Amino acid sequence: MHDLVAHFRAPKGSLTTRSLPADARTACACCGLAGATLAVSDTPLCLVCTPAYAADEAQIDRHAALIWLPQLDQGSLSRLLRAAWTALLVCNPGQPERERALAILDDLSGRRETAAEKIGTYHPARLRRAVATLAPHHMLKRQGAASGLRILPVAAWREQNSEALSALLTNRSRTP
Ligand SMILES: [Zn+2]
Repeated sequence: MHDLVAHFRAPKGSLTTRSLPADARTACACCGLAGATLAVSDTPLCLVCTPAYAADEAQIDRHAALIWLPQLDQGSLSRLLRAAWTALLVCNPGQPERERALAILDDLSGRRETAAEKIGTYHPARLRRAVATLAPHHMLKRQGAASGLRILPVAAWREQNSEALSALLTNRSRTP
């Protein structure tokens, strides 16, 4: 399972994205679905999962928020997001599927507050800075302890990548 606290202790500057050679069949290491077009630390990722890994990107706090969602791991959250974002792309306003997708996104967005209550922030960059100061014995103590912290890519991320995302979400042949 993707543990944000452990992942965010990677060497400073290493959590940035690079583009992968175009091959839409490359599977995402997080959600397992096809369509990985980016990599963070050589891990192939799709556009939905990338913000959960790319903590050193300059715009990360604008593109993603920490949420508290112990019920789902990061990959399952991404699959849920893919379904909701696809509904927004293909359903017209007023269609029940679209309304349900919006309700799901609202609910997820509201979970930022729980993250802020638990750790004092919902900004990924702040968590990235904070965990770098954890002593090794703190990490040992939390070994095996699951965290409910997940990363939610937000509307600004969707807008910035709208073209690539609609290609990913609507090209069904890409899904294994
Ligand atoms: Zn993915």
